[in-house]
Amino acid sequence: KYSRHQHYGFVMLGAPGVGKGTFSKLLAKKFDANVITSGDLLRRAAKEAKDKDRGRYLQQCIASGQLVPDHIVLPMIIDQLRDQTKSFILDGFPRTLHQAERIYAEYHFDLAIYLTLPDDVLTEKLLGRRVCNECGRTFNVASICKGDIIMPSMKPVKDGICDDCGSPLGIREDDTIEVVEQRLKLFHEIMTPILDFYKEKGTLLEFEVKTGIDDTLRLIQDINNSLERNR
Ligand code: ATP
Repeated sequence: KYSRHQHYGFVMLGAPGVGKGTFSKLLAKKFDANVITSGDLLRRAAKEAKDKDRGRYLQQCIASGQLVPDHIVLPMIIDQLRDQTKSFILDGFPRTLHQAERIYAEYHFDLAIYLTLPDDVLTEKLLGRRVCNECGRTFNVASICKGDIIMPSMKPVKDGICDDCGSPLGIREDDTIEVVEQRLKLFHEIMTPILDFYKEKGTLLEFEVKTGIDDTLRLIQDINNSLERNR
């Protein structure tokens, strides 16, 4: 069972837009963990790269929805993990079997949490996403009701303005219909070997998202059951 005194290692797997970021933040509170988000690290590295060619290259990978190569991503993640004194949640990582194997071999690891939603819901969510240019908080202007999936919209109080810091909201450059389709296609291609890897290790927890944040209690219960089973 979950204990505050223990350190946990989790990875959050799931398609673009499934809510990895939102659930990672909620779980971080519960498990007193740091969230390491590969997409954010890469977006920052693209902006701040001293080597301009490298910056442009990263920028181009992200804008087109292609994977950044392992020799760039892995050292960045390992760098973050090296100094961890707390539990950690990796969000958006691993995306290749090699990434999965490296982290599994070298760091304490408990569970791979795989969040799922149908592709048509993911597309609507991604196209409805708005991000604060200043503080990075995300909102969603799409409200989705499909069968037993009900995603209430997470609209800002004032249209186009961040509730937290009052700055303008924008659209992520890869949240366009063309790039969304490319990201979803790539996701399905790359995920099978990674899911098989964790399944074989007995550490895969698959979780069907139904309502967004209201699913948290159910997810925490599932995580506790899996931790108990794997103890
Ligand atoms: P979401 O839309 O839910 O944030 P996403 O998977 O589409 O999920 P990010 O995780 O933010 O978006 O990733 C954005 C881009 O950063 C990817 O399209 C890819 O170019 C790059 N990237 C992120 N993580 C990795 C990784 N582990 N390996 C390779 N490339 C990555």
